[in-house]
Amino acid sequence: MLSNRFKRMLQQLGLYAVPLRSAIRSAFIVNVRYTPKRVFNYSKVILSMYLSKWLKRPIIWGLPPIIMVEPTNICNLKCPMCPSGNGDMHRPRGKLDLKHFKSIVDDIGDYVFQIQFWNQGEPFINKNFLEFVQYAKEKGIMTQTSTNGHYIRTDEMAETVVKSGLDQIIFSMDGTNSETYAKYRVGGNFDLVIETLGRLTKARTRLGKKTPLIELQFIVFKHNQDEIDRLIEIARENKVNRIAFKTAQVYSEEQAKEYLPEDAQFLRYEFDGQSISMRGEIENWCKRLWLNTTVNWDGSISPCCFDKDADYAMAHLFDQKKSFKEIWKNGDYMQFRKQVLSNRKGIEMCGNCTEGLEEPYARIIEL
Ligand code: SF4
Repeated sequence: MLSNRFKRMLQQLGLYAVPLRSAIRSAFIVNVRYTPKRVFNYSKVILSMYLSKWLKRPIIWGLPPIIMVEPTNICNLKCPMCPSGNGDMHRPRGKLDLKHFKSIVDDIGDYVFQIQFWNQGEPFINKNFLEFVQYAKEKGIMTQTSTNGHYIRTDEMAETVVKSGLDQIIFSMDGTNSETYAKYRVGGNFDLVIETLGRLTKARTRLGKKTPLIELQFIVFKHNQDEIDRLIEIARENKVNRIAFKTAQVYSEEQAKEYLPEDAQFLRYEFDGQSISMRGEIENWCKRLWLNTTVNWDGSISPCCFDKDADYAMAHLFDQKKSFKEIWKNGDYMQFRKQVLSNRKGIEMCGNCTEGLEEPYARIIEL
């Protein structure tokens, strides 16, 4: 068992959410070019991040080493707590185009280690998505995506995914049979997801590749909490590399009553049946404001993926013809960082997010 102090240190470095074993395994499988420019940039970011924490005022050196890029905010499913699926999202729906994606990579790709292709919406709905991946791979950037697994419908498509160079793919699958699966993944087809998993692992074997690394993401709810053992069996049968058992995010006491499981290791909240609060202290701090950024499909820049409706967007990359480098240090972004460093809970979404939790928001099992 890790000591609390060591856990805290890993957590501050952003490493505790991914256990050491998983991080080491990934490092040997995924492809990323560690150029001097990227390493130097990362060092500057880390230094400025800790200086900011210590001085309690934001200092920004360098550019974010990780960017989240939203291929689309359109989704085929209607998951009840996802604003894209349940209709709570008010920002326009659309898809990122290739020209704009390339302009982002051309602008800051030399500094970026990793692109996470997700946010709201199903990435594979954007027909250009695998071209985004290929372009990022040409620049030596690690690529990840997260899918509900409904769009890799042929062997040929599965081979295209493998050949794109995608490093990691996460399948959201919160059930081990059609009934429990569809309780949250409303409109989803469990059998199709299982078929897709098999199709992708076979394509990977046929092509003699180790990537994409395949992860099953299982949000632990009240209605599926007894299916953990069965999920591990399914994952093994389908040659999945890893499973992440994730805690659920809820927005109201009603949702907490309906969805939260009993087992405390799968809870990010304290819930006594009446009122709900995050577990542990919420520190005035957020490393994501130095290490990450989120580019929505329309070019608006959000501080993180918890900004589902882009309410806290800093600027608009494509409309205003601003470079990302300008936006990263603009007045709104700096003011946002300042507020998180002085009163994080004062920003509604920052009081209901996983950043800085003492316990990880996902338990990861390597297979
Ligand atoms: S919601 Fe959480 S991750 Fe996002 S900026 Fe606020 S504290 Fe950071």
